[in-house]
Amino acid sequence: MKVFKFGGASVNDYKGVENTAAIIKNYCDSPLVVVVSAMGKTTNELEKLTEAFINKNTNLAEQIYYQIKQYHINILEQLFEKDDTIFYEAESIFHHLHLYIQDSPGNNYNFEYDRIVSTGEIISSKIISHYLNKRGLQNTWLDARKLIITNAAYRSAKPDWNQTYKSVNNNVIPILNQKKGNSHPIVVSQGFIGGTSHGFTTTLGREGSDFSAAIFGFSVNAKDVTIWKDVPGLLNADPKLFKDTVLLPEISYQEAIELAYYGAKVIHPKTLKPLLNKGIPLRVKSFENPQKAGSVIHNTNKTIDYPPSYIYKFNQVLLSIMPKDFSFIAEENLSLIFSSFARNEVKINLMQNSAISFSVCFDLDITKTPSLIKDLERNFNLKYNEKLELITIRHYENAPVNSIIESKEILLEQKNRTTMQLVVK
Ligand code: ASP
Ligand code: MG
Repeated sequence: MKVFKFGGASVNDYKGVENTAAIIKNYCDSPLVVVVSAMGKTTNELEKLTEAFINKNTNLAEQIYYQIKQYHINILEQLFEKDDTIFYEAESIFHHLHLYIQDSPGNNYNFEYDRIVSTGEIISSKIISHYLNKRGLQNTWLDARKLIITNAAYRSAKPDWNQTYKSVNNNVIPILNQKKGNSHPIVVSQGFIGGTSHGFTTTLGREGSDFSAAIFGFSVNAKDVTIWKDVPGLLNADPKLFKDTVLLPEISYQEAIELAYYGAKVIHPKTLKPLLNKGIPLRVKSFENPQKAGSVIHNTNKTIDYPPSYIYKFNQVLLSIMPKDFSFIAEENLSLIFSSFARNEVKINLMQNSAISFSVCFDLDITKTPSLIKDLERNFNLKYNEKLELITIRHYENAPVNSIIESKEILLEQKNRTTMQLVVK
């Protein structure tokens, strides 16, 4: 069994849907679970719709609603004959959304958000399922809200692994086990969305479809999970920032986890753990060049010679924290400092200390940062720098560090055997 995940960029127009079907036809050699995201930027649009609905801005909500609907209808008109049943199904999905936004909003924003925003994945998966059928790729559409069972933490729901495992085993595996002549059974479901055991819709957090693919992969014991993307695979830097990026054809889970930890944005960080637990390889391939091998993240004892990888974090704050009584930076002060960070939910990206000063680098956040500072000021004198960059270089031995820094001023530098980090201005 295999899992293929197609993100929003791979299905942002009718050509994308055709290409997705071609990939499934040509590259599927076993029973398959297809996990799809909302088409193009639909999730962003549905977020705006939620905002307008909550603010009771009826005109704006109507306008956004019709735009989203029209975008999907345009795609449908390119893919299907006028009398295809998908038009009725799409009409019904949009009708329900329309009724919902005409009602008054409840007071739980996150609950309303999940209810509305999940529509993006429902409609895209319906379209893809119908189109695959039309192309002779018989498949079964399943509702992820009944498969990925989560807690009720709306907008950042956590899967209940036992219940999810059970429901996937009861509902997905029997379909995947049905032999169909020469073709393989296909299940089409949604990324990003789940449901509570009481049947309420939840979402797993933005960009959560990779994580959904991993949850399905874990639950069906997949041979591998493939994420089809608009890049050739895992690259050693963001191609928007670097001209000459290099493909990483093979990397270990540990290396991938390190890259994700430092902020590499290729795969959703939660994706790796369930796959690592079962040793399921994760492939990243290009939907534009599906014949190319792409990258594989897997369990390996081989020593892989990694090229330097560059990860940038912008909008960083560097805070130097000094005890007012000039006491040393030791356990008592550290515990005060760390509890302040924990209380204000500020994630530390890098830290360093001297005898009487502790320096911390973190993301600027317009609400969290001021309250953290207020909190720390009670016991400490602070020095504060903002608008900085945090550059992380994995496997920096052969990296042209000087040309990367150029004329930037280095405020802090830290190295271990594999990783160099620089806070620069
Ligand atoms: N559609 C969701 C989003 O855009 C989930 C995903 O694409 O992974 O965040
Ligand atoms: Mg998306």
